[in-house]
Amino acid sequence: MTRRLIASRSEIPAARRVVVKVGSSSISGENTGQIAPLVDALAAAHARGTEIILVSSGAIATGMPYLALDARPSDLATQQAAAAVGQNVLIFRYQDSLDRYKIVAGQVLLTAGDLENPTHRSNAQRAMDRLLGLRILPIVNENDTVATHEIRFGDNDRLAALVSQLVQADALILLSDVDALYTRPPQEPGAVKISTVPIGDDLAGVTFGDIGAAGVGTGGAGTKVSAARLAAAAGTAVLITSTALVAEALLGAEVGTWFEPSAVSAERTPTGSIALAFD
Ligand code: GLU
Repeated sequence: MTRRLIASRSEIPAARRVVVKVGSSSISGENTGQIAPLVDALAAAHARGTEIILVSSGAIATGMPYLALDARPSDLATQQAAAAVGQNVLIFRYQDSLDRYKIVAGQVLLTAGDLENPTHRSNAQRAMDRLLGLRILPIVNENDTVATHEIRFGDNDRLAALVSQLVQADALILLSDVDALYTRPPQEPGAVKISTVPIGDDLAGVTFGDIGAAGVGTGGAGTKVSAARLAAAAGTAVLITSTALVAEALLGAEVGTWFEPSAVSAERTPTGSIALAFD
């Protein structure tokens, strides 16, 4: 499938394939109730004919209470154990919510190595295409039980950018608990909302924190900007906004921070052949 260049937010409803990424703190713990409105928005876009791929963090955070942990574990083995328990519960919660719309979820767990290995990569690509052709909603996460510190994607924002390349997504929507990027951490005085980031804008003078406020995931504004640049350079338009605004974002509303996609990459990327652009 050839990527379609999405030139502005208002064209998002015309995108054929959209990756939506949600972080751990938005859908676990006290925010577990946000799964239903997120699913409402994804189901509405699905009903309009958009192919949606959800990249969801939250395996470790969802598993924590089952292991009687009240903070994110710091050692790899306990993180892996929490993820093994939590991934299962997380997918159950999504499927339970998707049942209201008779949409079936397909769980896809990937490692960074899978996307570097040509055979694994093409297997993953074929499976994703088939799932989407069957109108199934792929829900992607890192395969945490086999990922070690050395071979991790780094964070799920980056995974979402790489999945956008894998599936040739027209648009990527990165969600967090903040409605947009700001010139400074938004709670600080003088923080100004950034509406659009043109290609080549290095956002000089902008200060981003790296860790989410809830401390249960790994991403922050900095990882979102890196992921957005990676995807936009490859021709996927990127919108950074809050989980609460996902329905508006999918309808093309003027919300969030827009990263203009590179037209050259979008046009030149041949169907079925995707260059990996690790930074
Ligand atoms: N894969 C991890 C999880 O599901 C999260 C990674 C991240 O937050 O970036 O818990």
